[in-house]
Amino acid sequence: MFTPAELLEINQLLIPKNKIVILTHYNPDGDAVGSSLGLKHYLRAKGIDAEVVTPNDFPKFLKWMPEAKKIIIGAYKRKMAFDLINDADVIFCLDFNSPARIGLLGDWLMRAKAKKILIDHHQQPEDFDFVYSDTVIPATCQMIYHFIEAMDDEDLVNKEIAECLYTGIMTDTGGFRFRSTSADTHRIVANLIEKGADPSVITSNTWDTNTVSRLHLLALVLGRIEVVNDGKIAVLSLTRKELLEYGFQKGDTEGFVNYGLSIVGVRMSAFFMEDLYEDFIKISFRSKDDVDVNQFSRKYFNGGGHINAAGGRSDESLADTIETFKGRVEEENL
Ligand code: 5GP
Ligand code: MN
Repeated sequence: MFTPAELLEINQLLIPKNKIVILTHYNPDGDAVGSSLGLKHYLRAKGIDAEVVTPNDFPKFLKWMPEAKKIIIGAYKRKMAFDLINDADVIFCLDFNSPARIGLLGDWLMRAKAKKILIDHHQQPEDFDFVYSDTVIPATCQMIYHFIEAMDDEDLVNKEIAECLYTGIMTDTGGFRFRSTSADTHRIVANLIEKGADPSVITSNTWDTNTVSRLHLLALVLGRIEVVNDGKIAVLSLTRKELLEYGFQKGDTEGFVNYGLSIVGVRMSAFFMEDLYEDFIKISFRSKDDVDVNQFSRKYFNGGGHINAAGGRSDESLADTIETFKGRVEEENL
């Protein structure tokens, strides 16, 4: 948590006359959108306006969240996003650890005069004016709750805040399953339910959103899942052509990588996907126990994240990327 002196300073910055912007990472997920909107609703409960800005669009299954449709998407509203960042007095940076994770917005962020406040749970955060980083906490949404507690504002938690924070905790813990899920997580979630978050409604809005084409895409991926390195590594992939054939929409492949990890004996799963518009391969890594995919992705695939969940990219072809990957896991003895 921020130190008491920092909290005092932050409190003095959170006043109605200050312009406040909340930024989150590229390809926003449930935790990114949930923490950003949760913070926005908390600030509103304090009588303070804030705008949420994302680098690009986010999946349809997150658009039910209160005020998700008011989020300024930089890729569509470039000038508005620039002006907001440039004119801000305070910028909250949520669920990312480096300006490089927010694309073009990162350049604007670095040049902005605003005080920059980081709240994030990824490894190796860069320097910001105020840093609350904790890599043991499963979701930035949980950290927003701790921040509200530290500000002594728990009674301000309302239904909107509760719904947003619940969603991010649920998605980033894979439905309260991942290793970092703690008793604290469950205590907070219990409070959020008391404040109005409905688990069955939120689960259904977020996860019961399959389309037939998404399930066909999943069937295709699962049909050719490959296991290498004595059954320890699972490899999944999709080409651009396949994505187009199945009418791919943002978020359709979310969670595919986890199926690899559910195979008995698999310690690491990697999902490779050709980007729809640009010539690069987007990679998702998931792992068990002490297999550190953050380090692995940083070292070989220009990425990062958490010990057991990370992302990366490659500029080689899909086939070459997968070959390179197989070589690296052998080299690293994973
Ligand atoms: P996903 O596989 O769901 O895209 O990402 C898993 C985790 O790794 C998320 O916490 C995400 O923020 C992080 N991540 C994904 N892609 C990248 C990347 O290219 N660079 C870094 N540093 N982190 C990433
Ligand atoms: Mn997160």
